This record gives sequence, C-alpha cells and structure tokens, in this order.
Amino acid sequence: MSNLIQALKRMPGLGPKSAERIAFHILRIPQKDAKALAFSILKVKERIKFCSRCGNLSEEDLCDICKDSNRDRSIICVVEQPNDILAVEKTSAFKGLYHVLGGALSPLDGIEPQNLRIKELFGRLKKERIKEVIIATDSDSEGETTALYLADRLKRTQIKVTRIAFGLPAGTNLEYADEVTLSNAIEGRRNL
Ligand SMILES: [Zn+2]
Repeated sequence: MSNLIQALKRMPGLGPKSAERIAFHILRIPQKDAKALAFSILKVKERIKFCSRCGNLSEEDLCDICKDSNRDRSIICVVEQPNDILAVEKTSAFKGLYHVLGGALSPLDGIEPQNLRIKELFGRLKKERIKEVIIATDSDSEGETTALYLADRLKRTQIKVTRIAFGLPAGTNLEYADEVTLSNAIEGRRNL
C-alpha cells in the first residue's frame, strides 16, 4: 500500500492527501477495474510514442493530424506540449498542422533553444510549404520569451508570424481581471 501511495505522490498535482485517497479508492474497486487501470497504464507506455514530424502523441510514426489530408498544410501552430494540441483541437478553431516544442525557453533552468524542438521546426519550414506560423506558447514569462525568440528568427523568412491573443476568460468582469490579462486582451483586440 505504501508503495502505491509513494508512486501516486510523484504524479503532477497530487499531494500526499490525494495520493492516499486514490490508493484507498483503488483498494476498494473490483479486481477487474484495477486490472483495466494497470493495463491501460502499461499499454500507453508500450504503444504511444511521439510523432516524428510534429512531436504530437502517436501510435505510429506520424500522428493522425499530420496524416490527415483535410488539414491546411500551409499553417503551423507552435505549442509547448502535446496536451496543448488537445486544448486547441477542442475549440475546432484551427485546421492547420502543429509543432510541439517540448517546453519553453528558460535560461535560468538551463532550457536553451537546443533543448527544444526548434531545429526541427526550422527544418519543416524549409521542406514544407508553410505560409503562416501561429505561436501558441503559454502566456507566462517562459512562453513569452520563447514566442519572442521564434518571432525574431522567423523575421528573416517570408513566413507570416502571429501570436495567439490572450484575453479574458469568458464571463469575467473587467474589474476583476488582472493587469497582464487585461493588457493582453487589449493588445490582442481585433476588428469588429
Ligand atoms: Zn504529427
């Protein structure tokens, strides 16, 4: 039992209390449910790898998005992690391709351009007929640093570079918005 709690505690976002609660829950569920859970963990480790082109999660060499001939191949959305792709896909607002960097620049933590999939991105820009790159890194300082770095390097190409606008969550009152969010919302404004 303590092995299980220890293992769960190492999961992102799980503190000791939640780890214990999940461990006791697992103890109570039927044998077949516990087996199914263990099996799905093993299966994910065995079968899921990274797409050789965009870095998305995939069961094959190329992911479903890279293989999909209905996607717009002239536009690439650059994100930090594969789960960012899921978030953008849920909106159905984007029908182009993706490129996963595998993180964001953070010189203090030793994360330099060569630690991210930036070389791979520029390799794609040379080979594929890309007209626009949307930089959709996070709006924290690492994400902003990464966006500026990429925008600067892309200036030398013919490719249009855009940054997603970060605005107010739906349903927020202006008076409760923090300054950074509000100033990003104003900067990212578009024509009506
Ligand atoms: Zn892919």
